[in-house]
Amino acid sequence: MVLQELGSKINGALSKLNTASVVDEAAVDSVLKEIAGALLMSDVNVRTVAEMRTNIKREVMQDSIRAGSTSKAKQIRNAVFNELVRLLSPDVDAYRPVKGKANVFMFVGLQGSGKTTSIAKFANYWARKGWKTAMVCCDTFRAGALDQMKQNAIKLRIPYFGNPLEADPVKLAEEGTKHFRDEGYEIILVDTSGRHQQEAELFEEMEQVMDVVEPDEVIFVMDSTIGQAVADQASAFKKSVPVGSVIITKLDGHAKGGGALSAVAATNAPITFIGTGEHFDEMERFDARSFVSRLMG
Ligand code: GDP
Repeated sequence: MVLQELGSKINGALSKLNTASVVDEAAVDSVLKEIAGALLMSDVNVRTVAEMRTNIKREVMQDSIRAGSTSKAKQIRNAVFNELVRLLSPDVDAYRPVKGKANVFMFVGLQGSGKTTSIAKFANYWARKGWKTAMVCCDTFRAGALDQMKQNAIKLRIPYFGNPLEADPVKLAEEGTKHFRDEGYEIILVDTSGRHQQEAELFEEMEQVMDVVEPDEVIFVMDSTIGQAVADQASAFKKSVPVGSVIITKLDGHAKGGGALSAVAATNAPITFIGTGEHFDEMERFDARSFVSRLMG
């Protein structure tokens, strides 16, 4: 179910309360059941949905059902809104880069998730704000990864580091970040290998790269179109490296938005940006309230 559809399903369920003659516990349950169904169909993870449902019900049933049905519907709508925002706003903040020093961001995520593209977008974002920005490629697994970064780097006129003759990602990561640290770069972005699956080797490599790079932030890049696999994938990455923030890609077109909720629930890390297309400027700053407003608007 696409985002707009999820929003209209939620609103549809809520509007039933406006016409109900009595809004008792059974009516609330039935609406919440409908909303939960819509969230599940949008790939929000089962556990997250169950938790939300309990929270909303607790909040709504706190007051006696004295109010008229219209204001009860409004109250439930607010509770749903708040709960969605709460889910998307973990109580930790993303790392804020500091001017005049090297801020190293290590990007992790499965192959095809949109890491290399997101790095270019992220680099473009900071470079346009006047930060001295560079990219390091240590994905030696995917043929063409370095070429892709090089193409992006040339288009954006941003320096990059890579070596097609070096097969050791840890060495590349170490050399690349050292080089740009020494040169006084402020935003250093490290692209890591994603391989095909969540293999043990991938996580081992990530940990080794992390040790030499000493990132200020690990950014987990996640493809929003992968459905219910989001929660498991995000937890697996979180277990292996300290994910500090999340970038959700491919939230354009017919993408489902529920994955965003599950990714935050699984990593307890905030979403900072969403990718909305293949071009460098198709990345937006993520704001939980406006995301949910758009959803339920
Ligand atoms: P990586 O293997 O994780 O480095 O993934 P890539 O950056 O190579 O991206 C994989 C594919 O997804 C490419 O065709 C990208 O153009 C595409 N892609 C990345 N981000 C987005 C996005 O936000 N929207 C859309 N529509 N496509 C994207």
